[in-house]
Amino acid sequence: MPDVFADLVGQDEAVETLRRAAASAAAVLRAAAVPPATEAAGDEFDATAEEGAGAGAVDPGAGMTHAWIFTGPPGSGRSVAARAFAAALQCAYGTGCGECPGCHTTMTGTHADVRLVVPEGLSIGVNEMRALVLRAASTPSGGRWQVVVISDADRLTEAAGNALLKAIEEPPPRTVFLLCAPSTHPDDISVTIRSRCRVVPLRQPAADAVAEVLVRRDGVTPDVAQWAAAAAQGHVGRARRLARDPEARKRREAVLAVPRRLTGVGAAFDAASALIEAAEAEAAASVAETDATERAALETALGAGGTGRGAAGAMRGAAGQLKDLEKRQKSRATRAQRDALDRALVDLAGFYRDALTMALRAPVAPVHTDTAALAEAGAQKWDAEGALRRLEAVLECRAAIEANVKPRIAVEAMMLSLWKG
Ligand SMILES: [Zn+2]
Repeated sequence: MPDVFADLVGQDEAVETLRRAAASAAAVLRAAAVPPATEAAGDEFDATAEEGAGAGAVDPGAGMTHAWIFTGPPGSGRSVAARAFAAALQCAYGTGCGECPGCHTTMTGTHADVRLVVPEGLSIGVNEMRALVLRAASTPSGGRWQVVVISDADRLTEAAGNALLKAIEEPPPRTVFLLCAPSTHPDDISVTIRSRCRVVPLRQPAADAVAEVLVRRDGVTPDVAQWAAAAAQGHVGRARRLARDPEARKRREAVLAVPRRLTGVGAAFDAASALIEAAEAEAAASVAETDATERAALETALGAGGTGRGAAGAMRGAAGQLKDLEKRQKSRATRAQRDALDRALVDLAGFYRDALTMALRAPVAPVHTDTAALAEAGAQKWDAEGALRRLEAVLECRAAIEANVKPRIAVEAMMLSLWKG
């Protein structure tokens, strides 16, 4: 296995920060292993600067701390960075060698002291957070750190955020929280949590860096990698899917056919329906397998199909659990639909951005090289102003859905604007 930071594309600055912090955290552990000359302070990180001389190799500017926020646009690698940092903290030999059991088990998701929270629905609830905070307070079994990674901290409910805040305000000495969020805007993360965390900003990786990793790691041919990296607009996971999954390419082509199809009011409504239904189908396919597996597992656990005495009673009690599962699955499906629709809207925005840059004769490469001719025709017809209005219509639609406007209503309004200009 290569170095744990190898998959973090185009983020040299962040990697440098995280390596220094991991080295500082390792020094804290070494210092703790040596009996301190003076009485131990409450917070080990605060104590390192003074103890540094005795323990050696402590970098006071490295800023290891108990709580971190990784921010950046979708696809920039927030959760990849958090997991790599977790591995670096558990690394037995260095700052993320990728070879030792600490690195290896963290990267494969089996380390006993690393917990990864991935919300399946639209939010992370308070009960889940309380249970997590409780377990995170226990002594690390591997003797290093308890690490909690929360992959979408912007989806915390208010109550869950408060439970987390309490833990961050009075952190157990060996617990580290790694939060991931699109930004540190108060809509994404509460100001009080933000004030307790060190922020690691990730940038949108350059297309060349994304293409390079597709070639090196995934064995994609260079020309396909270049195309996919540009089309994915800096989203590494999306680029990999486009390069490797023919279905993903087909869905993208259908989205990019929308501008051509907008010939009247009826066509605009048809295009809206098609876009919504495609997102629903994509989401349904992505959750179907997990849903069926979960349901089968629960039914087996509850003894469904049993004929013995008590089986009927057990099934009656089980109805509640099945209902809970269905609720969770429905919430996950809704999230998957929104994500699929948002990907489609980002593709569409890329098309109108291309038309805009062409109308302005801006010397930048198009996002979608395969529809560049169509974007050029749009640029001729609409001028920069018309292209900009259409781009704004797509971005407004994304914002409206994010603000909980019903997707169909938002998409229909967008299609009408795209048609009328
Ligand atoms: Zn290691």
